[in-house]
Amino acid sequence: MKIKHLFGMGAVALSVAACTTNPITGRSSLQIANNSEILTMSAQEYKSTLSKGKVITGTADAKRVVNVGNRIKTAAEKYYQSIGRSADLANYSWEFNLLQSTELNAWCMPGGKVAVYTGILPVTKNDNGLAVVMGHEVSHALAGHGNERISQAMVAQYGGSILGSTISNAQWAAIFQKAYPIGSQVALLKYGRNQESEADKMGLYLMSMAGYDPREAIPFWNRMEASSTGGRQPEFLSTHPNPETRISDINKDLPQALEYYKAAGGKI
Ligand SMILES: [Zn+2]
Repeated sequence: MKIKHLFGMGAVALSVAACTTNPITGRSSLQIANNSEILTMSAQEYKSTLSKGKVITGTADAKRVVNVGNRIKTAAEKYYQSIGRSADLANYSWEFNLLQSTELNAWCMPGGKVAVYTGILPVTKNDNGLAVVMGHEVSHALAGHGNERISQAMVAQYGGSILGSTISNAQWAAIFQKAYPIGSQVALLKYGRNQESEADKMGLYLMSMAGYDPREAIPFWNRMEASSTGGRQPEFLSTHPNPETRISDINKDLPQALEYYKAAGGKI
């Protein structure tokens, strides 16, 4: 990444060490925030968000959410293990919950805290469609997009000097809240466009590794576009490139995804 533009030559060595390379997409990103702090705050926010909403348990749909989530999580763990990156996931604490809401939405907080809203289930239509959504969301967490957003917020607020300084708990809380306006604002959570594209690609590969048919991603996104005209935009449509770009990107990634799908026992 173009780190020199941000911090000048003097900070290069430190900054390079703070760059993380995504093992699935190869994209490099600035992640200077403390992950254990992020995961602690994320777990608290998740708990508090669930307590304010209605969590569905024990139904067929709730079980599907847990099942699809666990299959994707297991596929990711297997892949990270195969390339010697298991340590990346050591502090994750996965949870997959179905929430009662008419909104067409789903999200995942750092550390693997996933929520799927009942409103999106008719659009997902089947487990493959649900795997597109959950693969995308889980990928935001796996790729450390929360840390990247917080790092960007830190640099924006405090400048390059933040790299060598200590951040107080109050500063942490303020930065985290800015990057993750959860609670009633959860549906407004926004990632950057390049993060959305990365979550699409990574999600497509992960669902394939988990044995879900990646070809279903295109009809799913078409259904999603058709269903979400008017009203509040869900997380994954808010900052994304236009639908044509999304579909053409998926088509480019499909051959590799189908290889993963075949390796997982999927029928072509
Ligand atoms: Zn997204």
